[in-house]
Amino acid sequence: MNDFYEFNIAKEILLSLEKLGYKNPTEVQKKVVPLVLKNKDIIVESQTGSGKTAAFAIPICERVEIENSNPQALILTPTRELAVQIKEDISNIGRFKKVRCTAIFGKQIFSSQVRELKQRIHVVVGTPGRTLDHIERGTINLSGINYLVIDEADEMLNMGFIDQVKNIINKLPPKRVTMLFSATMSEKIQILCHEYMKDPEVINIKAEKPITEKIKDYYYIVEGKDKFDLLKKIIYTENPDSAMIFCNTRNSVETLFSILRDKGFSCVSIHGGMLQQDRLNVIKSFSRGEFTFLVATDIAARGIDIANVTHVINYDLPFEKESYVHRIGRTGRGENNGKAISFVTPNQCRFLNEIEEYIERTINKAQLPELRDIEVGKNLFNERLKNKPKLKKEKSFELNKNILKIYINAGKKKKIRNVDIVGTISNINGVESEDIGIIDIQDNLSYIDILNGKGSLVIEALREKTMKGKKIRCERAER
Ligand code: AMP
Repeated sequence: MNDFYEFNIAKEILLSLEKLGYKNPTEVQKKVVPLVLKNKDIIVESQTGSGKTAAFAIPICERVEIENSNPQALILTPTRELAVQIKEDISNIGRFKKVRCTAIFGKQIFSSQVRELKQRIHVVVGTPGRTLDHIERGTINLSGINYLVIDEADEMLNMGFIDQVKNIINKLPPKRVTMLFSATMSEKIQILCHEYMKDPEVINIKAEKPITEKIKDYYYIVEGKDKFDLLKKIIYTENPDSAMIFCNTRNSVETLFSILRDKGFSCVSIHGGMLQQDRLNVIKSFSRGEFTFLVATDIAARGIDIANVTHVINYDLPFEKESYVHRIGRTGRGENNGKAISFVTPNQCRFLNEIEEYIERTINKAQLPELRDIEVGKNLFNERLKNKPKLKKEKSFELNKNILKIYINAGKKKKIRNVDIVGTISNINGVESEDIGIIDIQDNLSYIDILNGKGSLVIEALREKTMKGKKIRCERAER
């Protein structure tokens, strides 16, 4: 199969995939999509970066009934950042079919999630703790869930979420399709599958290209006190476009971030002690290319999909050997290559050996950069600092460029319904009902996606129109 058409899915979904630039299904998509469309339970062993999110998102978007207002698919994922990323992927793939997806996770205002869950929502992506909170308080309706995805199952176990996951599964309708994705398959995961899945099909996806072909990794032996000096040398000689620098603790992230920032490096930082909204903003601005360096703890190591990260630097060698693989996997994604550089203090050689045993290969020791190269690189680097950073194009750019979100100052309290909005807008000269995307009616206002580049036309025209006999105010909304 060399084309998404052979999946026999709705043209609205094909259009989204085309606009996202997905030309052919990846290996995992080729295997998973047809099975899920046949309602088979599946266990998938595959790495992030293989296109696994779309592998479950495509069949879920295909099977969702748009007119049905209750959630029909639940996706459980270990971290809040991943929940947001998956929500965005599903919203993109379902954009033209008008699939509505929401993410629920901790440290975000509960009541606004409750409000969102009361709307027409087809797919819910949640972290286990917050999902369970909503179940216990009766603020989520799970009676219509037909699809359950347990994403990053191994990480879910590592983080101690297993009982919460089991608790959630026990609250779901037994007649459903269950999909489990994991980078590794431990005995515990197999027991979980055995308990909660019906005759599952097991899919094992080998990486198309071995990781070593795409990511060059090497290490330096360095005393703790000399690490920053070495980092600077590497930055000057490598001149990375976009680099993630990993430290093991919040404190070390903060310390290194302050030093880099004070020395004028273009950087942001992320760790678990930060406010959730700040964490999301950091990921967004770094993804857009507004900053060259992201200093991070392991919360950014897993699953986070940032395009064109050219370098990963393990400023601290990870405590967990699995983390090494997750961290370096932030570079060399898709078609790109990448470099991963680890700092090893003399007394950490033992940990390095453990990592090598785990990945079943040796990592090369690097030579210190030459003084002359450092000087030349430093000048080039400083030259580059004078220019504004070149922003990266978001992967949904083509998909969203002709879509404008607008809002009107009328909602449920004025008894506005979908039909009123569709009726009024499709009455505008030059606008058809196909130009109207997702409609989100809240108490006092409503958001409407206007497709096909007709946003400005609709805003202009609505200024002259009434809805339910009243004039309305209409503006462009922030995305
Ligand atoms: P994931 O494994 O879900 O984290 O996906 C890794 C990356 O591959 C993401 O940036 C996706 O947008 C991208 N991707 C997924 N499916 C395809 C496809 N069929 N063709 C090209 N890129 C894809």
